[in-house]
Amino acid sequence: MLELTDFSCGYGAFQAVHGLDLKLREGTITGLLGANGAGKSSTLMCLAGHVAQQGGKTLFQGRDITGMSPGDRVRLGLAISPEGRRLFKDLTVEDNLRVGGLVQPASHFTQDRDYVLGLFPRLGERLETLAGNLSGGEQQMLAIGRALMARPRLLMIDELSLGLMPKVIDLCYAALETLRNDGMTILLVEQNTTRALQVADDICVLESGRPVWQGKASDAMNDPSLTAAYLGLH
Ligand code: ATP
Repeated sequence: MLELTDFSCGYGAFQAVHGLDLKLREGTITGLLGANGAGKSSTLMCLAGHVAQQGGKTLFQGRDITGMSPGDRVRLGLAISPEGRRLFKDLTVEDNLRVGGLVQPASHFTQDRDYVLGLFPRLGERLETLAGNLSGGEQQMLAIGRALMARPRLLMIDELSLGLMPKVIDLCYAALETLRNDGMTILLVEQNTTRALQVADDICVLESGRPVWQGKASDAMNDPSLTAAYLGLH
């Protein structure tokens, strides 16, 4: 459903990612893994239209989206929960969800909000709270919820578990599984390799902006050279 061919992206003359071929299968979770600075966030932000694509081709549901604006990408069905969450901190939880749903007809709001609250019941208790006053875990749930309000076909999540308590991480991962069961395609950037490998169907490992391993997560776990060299697992 998303297909990158010889994809590169970066900042001015600097190439953060190069030579990436990646195919996401509909209704699956793909983990994009690698050390700090490997190019994971740059890839996601480029797919969301916020970082320049410098080469290659990006097809989303068969359509070339290279050069398309961030807004048009959201309308087509790509939504991102970005690194640092970037919530509207002075707006309430409900209004953050409302902003996420602005690309949809207003008549969808209640149904879509209730879907998000079903995934993250905690947000239902905090609807009138300002996003800036939420805990880290609640903010992560809201960032994902806001992205879901756009009714995406592809949900991209950057650093799902960073800084969160284990219980909240469990909750977020359970939500990912529910979303996958509902047919969502997910591209997940994670530092927490162990968790990502548990949930992902496919993985792609980047090192210094280049793909060094791609395949099924189950095969990745059984490849000692990969787990030791690139994933910090022994
Ligand atoms: P992290 O987990 O630290 O975010 P990452 O794998 O997501 O790592 P990126 O943030 O994509 O990696 O960074 C890839 C490269 O791009 C790094 O060399 C980084 O310094 C550079 N980079 C990231 N953002 C910018 C920017 N706004 N301007 C210039 N270079 C940047």
